Amino acid sequence: HWRSEWSAAELRDAADEHVMLSWTASNPVKALPVIERGEGVYLYDTHGKKYLDWTSQAVCVNLGHTVPDAVKQGINDQLDSLPYVYGGLGLAPVRAKLAKLLAEICPGDLNGFLFPSGGGEANEAAIRLARLYTRKHKIFTQYRSYHGSSASSLGATGDFRRKFAESGQNGFVKFFNPQPSGFSWGTTDASATARTLACLEDQILAEGPETIAAILVESIVGAGGVLVPPEGYMEGLRSLCDKYEILLICDEVMVGFGRTGNFFGFQHFEGVIPDIVTSAKGLTASFMPLSLVGVRQKIKDHFMTHPLGWGSTFHAHPVALACAYETVKYVLKENVLDNVKKLEPVMLEELERLVLRHDSVRQARGVGLFGCVDLQTPLGQTVQRLGEPSPPAVLKLRQAMFENGLFSLFRPPLLHCSPPLIINEEQLRDGFGRLSKALDTFDEMQNR
Ligand code: PLP
Repeated sequence: HWRSEWSAAELRDAADEHVMLSWTASNPVKALPVIERGEGVYLYDTHGKKYLDWTSQAVCVNLGHTVPDAVKQGINDQLDSLPYVYGGLGLAPVRAKLAKLLAEICPGDLNGFLFPSGGGEANEAAIRLARLYTRKHKIFTQYRSYHGSSASSLGATGDFRRKFAESGQNGFVKFFNPQPSGFSWGTTDASATARTLACLEDQILAEGPETIAAILVESIVGAGGVLVPPEGYMEGLRSLCDKYEILLICDEVMVGFGRTGNFFGFQHFEGVIPDIVTSAKGLTASFMPLSLVGVRQKIKDHFMTHPLGWGSTFHAHPVALACAYETVKYVLKENVLDNVKKLEPVMLEELERLVLRHDSVRQARGVGLFGCVDLQTPLGQTVQRLGEPSPPAVLKLRQAMFENGLFSLFRPPLLHCSPPLIINEEQLRDGFGRLSKALDTFDEMQNR
């Protein structure tokens, strides 16, 4: 195992024997392709097959698979000058530079920044901070939400993964999203906003506002299906938080840094500034693991004299900070957000085309370069729960996407379309063409 040359078969064997997967049982490792190389929006496996990265992996490689020169340079310079200093003992200069840059980008007085390593960890810290700051315990979160896999962030999670949350994670109170589910909040956005907020206010009163530290939401729900709240909803959440002295935490782990066409998802909503914001993925375009917790001035001030009660060896890792600093500057300099805004109409047009063309597509929606298709699920046939084997139609669709050169994270019945933000129009339309071909196979199976 010290050999320098590995054959494809040896790699396969080593992976099959020793690699464990996250979330699912590890058996499917045998079916995972060994990806050897990435370039732009494309990936190449060991057999030389080329794939378009249709979901930017886990909606995270926002700049694709080619690291910009400036980012490489920043990482290398950091490795040369100071590869590591413990964040609690010393300050890498780049930590100050990145914090300053973020304070400039973030609206309002979001002025204090903490740098954990992952999205779930950022939410874990945000929850801790909110509880310490307010001296209250309960955290309100939505059913259609994912906040991470650590104890509290999974406790906060409302989607199917919450079943893995450790028992004893108390203090998390779930409420319904404004999007219709089995029942309706009314036929218009206005009624959905009014009714969900009225229901939430009742819930706040029933739980007791004096026990509620924060309301934690994804400003635009990601893994739950690209759900943009109806008009007035986020503004209403902000007002309820102000009225009952509850903190508003926006989880921007997936949408932060440009996915939806704004730097942050909450910037789609007039005047809404969270008390705490968390983000990750796009912060470094996922070239390095780093996340952030940003807090407003009042919270920053509080923790100047109160212990924060959170830490880790790798927080504020200088090399990851250097990567983030150069990545964020690149996003600004290269006007990456303009590309997202320019391609939004193409994304929406192509999504609509899928709805019209495919029996198996029930509906679709999108914002920026963040699209989602809802597949038909007759008799629940295509619904897959974690750990359960996929039904044949889903396996067939997965395979068809793969064969058509699409590499994507696909959790039926939701099919996300979230390519790297640097994609061009031709590549985007090509991706939809490939997806449409794959869906032809799925239509046939559904119609049988
Ligand atoms: N929050 C949201 C909205 C996410 O989408 C994710 C991951 O997909 C997380 C938190 C967890 O982030 P991580 O996987 O980096 O811990």
